[in-house]
Amino acid sequence: MSGKVCLVVVDGLRNDTARTDCGYLMSAVEAKQAQVWTMLACLPTISAPLYETIHTGMAPADHGLLSNESIRPSPHPNLFSALKAAGKITGVVAHSFFHTLYGGSSFDAFDHVEINDPNAAIPYARHYTMTGYNQANPTMPSEFDLCAQAWAIARDHAPEYLLLHTSSCDTLGHYYTGEGREYRIQATHVDNALSQLIPRLRSTGYDVLVTADHGMNADGQHAGDEQCLGEVPFIAFSERLKVETDVILDQRTIAPTILAMLALQAPKTMNIPAMQ
Ligand SMILES: [Zn+2]
Repeated sequence: MSGKVCLVVVDGLRNDTARTDCGYLMSAVEAKQAQVWTMLACLPTISAPLYETIHTGMAPADHGLLSNESIRPSPHPNLFSALKAAGKITGVVAHSFFHTLYGGSSFDAFDHVEINDPNAAIPYARHYTMTGYNQANPTMPSEFDLCAQAWAIARDHAPEYLLLHTSSCDTLGHYYTGEGREYRIQATHVDNALSQLIPRLRSTGYDVLVTADHGMNADGQHAGDEQCLGEVPFIAFSERLKVETDVILDQRTIAPTILAMLALQAPKTMNIPAMQ
């Protein structure tokens, strides 16, 4: 059975913070509209390497992207290329890193902030950069704006795979640490915006998965293997995933699982089985 999947990556959202501060998501779990698991991120717990892990099903040691500074176009089979090859549509609302990885060219904000091109590697894209902001003014894309953009793409183009990636928890985690009130409050802002998006997506036939690339530590950093960095939430609004919720999930299962949900074959490089 094929369908449509929206993956929400809340950059830098700790597993414990999701469970204590994301009241909407936890209310959905309580109401049995969703299930929550603990997922183990791969090492190093750094964003670009783990965006690539989430989309290729490969550990950073295997896909070779080990730092944000060495970001490059993905040379591996990934969710975007697999859907393209199958004649399916993809869409993203995400940081410009995702264009660099999967968009088919180097990122130029003036060319790529908005893409509406059925022939493009990612046909429908809304990108942001956060260029020029700092702790004194950490202005970031509004969570509501990002959710509204994701909804507009879903409503108008119904991509089989829709990625929503938000950076604000990561940004405030770096400035105020993963134990600061600003970080936790931002998690509630993200959660609150998702409460407006997810029911809309569900009403139009989307399965929705919410996770994080990595967590955030008390130093306001991430890269290593502390529990608060490696453990991330995985929340599924879907009737298709039957794994017991006390199982610790492997981050490399996300890509093959999404392909299975779309009734597509996983490439050989995604060698961790899909969640059943
Ligand atoms: Zn970060």
